[in-house]
Amino acid sequence: MNYILFGMQGSGKGTQSKYLAEHLNLEVFETGEALRSLAEEGSELGNKVKAIMESGNLVPIEVVMEIIENFLTNLPEGKSVLFDGIPRSKEQQKNFDILMKKKGMDFTAILIEISEEEAIRRLTNRRICSKCKTVFPATYKENRCKDCDSELISRSDDTPNAIRIRLNNFTKKTMPVIEDYKSKGKIISINGEQSIEAVRDEMLSKIN
Ligand SMILES: [Zn+2]
Repeated sequence: MNYILFGMQGSGKGTQSKYLAEHLNLEVFETGEALRSLAEEGSELGNKVKAIMESGNLVPIEVVMEIIENFLTNLPEGKSVLFDGIPRSKEQQKNFDILMKKKGMDFTAILIEISEEEAIRRLTNRRICSKCKTVFPATYKENRCKDCDSELISRSDDTPNAIRIRLNNFTKKTMPVIEDYKSKGKIISINGEQSIEAVRDEMLSKIN
């Protein structure tokens, strides 16, 4: 089975995505990362992506879909995929669903649910390592990075206002996609307002 993992910023999606991919031996597709590695590759598509990114423009949806299709075509035999946060808008969803149908690939979507208040609380309280950029949640009480012993700082874009704007994007653009999948019985909801381990266990027991 293939999976889509949805979760608002602050839901712990990144951590759970890594865990799920390892546990189920899935190939992860994450748009930002896919774009960056393509741009370095030097292929025709890679050069196109590089030019768009260097111009500071958003990569258009057709290109994103081409990248996903490319990724699926080169998928090792028998491997399934974890789509991390894709599709993130109704427009992407339309194209994504067509592509998945064309490839004969079915999927289940997992939503790690947290309230907006909880997301804001977590995001305003998290800190980042000034050197290696590792992110530490509010529950981490030390003042130095556990990996490189550098100072931890608050991210300058983690002001309540900036956070609200980012979350708003999720609510406005991505929630309609989730609602649509929900109405088609494709969504498994997980309570994200519990410990990382509890979220992981709930996720595993519900997908089995
Ligand atoms: Zn560090």
